[in-house]
Amino acid sequence: MRGIFSAPSCSRRMRVIHWRHGFSLENAIICNTYKALCFPLLAYTGAKDERSTMSDISSTTRQGTVGAPIYLEGIGAHSGRYAHLVIKPAAVDTGIVFVRTDFPQQCGCIAAHRRHLSSTTLCTALTNASGACVQTVEHLLAALFLYAIDNAIIEIDSEEIPVLDGSAQPYVEALQAVGRRTQQASRRCIRVLLPIRVQQGNRVAALLPSSSGLSLEVCCDYQARNVAHQHYEATMTTETFTKEIASARTFGFLEDAEKLHAQGLAQGSSLENAVVFSDGKPLNLEGLRFSDEVVRHKMLDVLGDLALLGHPLNAHFEGKNTGHTLNAQLTAAVLEHPDCWTLTEVPLPKIAARRSVSRLKQQQLAPALSPLQGSPVAALSSCK
Ligand SMILES: [Zn+2]
Repeated sequence: MRGIFSAPSCSRRMRVIHWRHGFSLENAIICNTYKALCFPLLAYTGAKDERSTMSDISSTTRQGTVGAPIYLEGIGAHSGRYAHLVIKPAAVDTGIVFVRTDFPQQCGCIAAHRRHLSSTTLCTALTNASGACVQTVEHLLAALFLYAIDNAIIEIDSEEIPVLDGSAQPYVEALQAVGRRTQQASRRCIRVLLPIRVQQGNRVAALLPSSSGLSLEVCCDYQARNVAHQHYEATMTTETFTKEIASARTFGFLEDAEKLHAQGLAQGSSLENAVVFSDGKPLNLEGLRFSDEVVRHKMLDVLGDLALLGHPLNAHFEGKNTGHTLNAQLTAAVLEHPDCWTLTEVPLPKIAARRSVSRLKQQQLAPALSPLQGSPVAALSSCK
C-alpha cells in the first residue's frame, strides 16, 4: 500500500546511503539520522572547517560552498520516483545550480532563481528553457540559504528532490558534517528599503525593512481542519534555523489524500515523510516534533522560496496563511519593484527603521502591491 495511508516501514525510501566505489566507512562521515554519506572536510583540498562557528554563519561576509560533496538519495514526495542527489562545491558567483544528469549536457542546468519558477502546486518547481524541471526544491534551498552556501552544483538524476523525512533536517546534518568552505568573494545581500506586500483573500505575505539580518513572523489558521491557530516569530540565524525550524516536517490532511492521488500528486508521501492529520490529530505514531510543527514548517517553506531571490536577505518577513503560490507572488513583487530594495555587501549598515512593523501599521504605510498572477518575471540584471 502506498501513499499517505501507508504505515511506517523500514523501506528503501529512507535508505539514503549512496555507496561509491573507492570510499569506505574509514574515510566517510555518516550522518547519524539519515545516513547521508558525506566525505570528510580534511579530504577536500582547500576546505576550511567552519563547523565550530555554525551558530550564525547566515550573515557571514564572504561567499561559501560546501566543504565536500554530499550524497543523498530517496523518493520524491509527489512523483514517487527515486532520485540520487549530489551536492558539489562550486566556484564563486556560480550560485545554486541544479543539473539534471539524465538530460544532455547544458540542457539539464537549472539555476535556482525565481525566474525559473514554473509551478507552485504543493511544492516549488523550477524549469529551464530546455524543459528540464526539478521540483520540491524548497527544503534543500532553505538549508543552503541558512548555512550560507552561496555556490553549489546539485546533480540529480530525476525530476524531484528526495523528500527524505519531510523536513530540512537531513540536509542540515549533511551540511554540518562537511562544513562550509569560505571563498574569496564578498556576499551581497538584498536590503529591503520599503514594504513589499502581496495578498490573496485572507493570505498575506510581506517583506519589511529590518535593522539587521532576517526575521520572520508567520501565522496559519487551519481551524476548519481542527488544527489550532499557530503563530511563530524568530530572528533567523543558522542556529535558530537548526534548532527551531529545520526538523519541522511537511504535513497534509487525510481527507485530501484521495483527491491528491487522483491528480497524480503525493505519490511518494507516507507517514515516514509527512505529518498526516485526521480530525486535528496526527496519525503518525511518533506524534509531532513540535506542538506548532505546522507553522514552523510554513516558515521553512518561506525560507526555501525566498532563497530563489539569489541573495541573503536583510528584511523582516510577515506572513499569514502563506503557501508556495503566495511566496512566489512576493518574490515576483520583489523583482518587479527594485526601487523597494538595494543590493549591499554583508555586513549591513544599521538603518533607522525599526526591526519590524506590525501588519496594521504596514497596511497604513503602503498599499498592497497587486498580486502578480503568474506574470513572467524579467530577470533583474542585478540578481544572479
Ligand atoms: Zn515544505
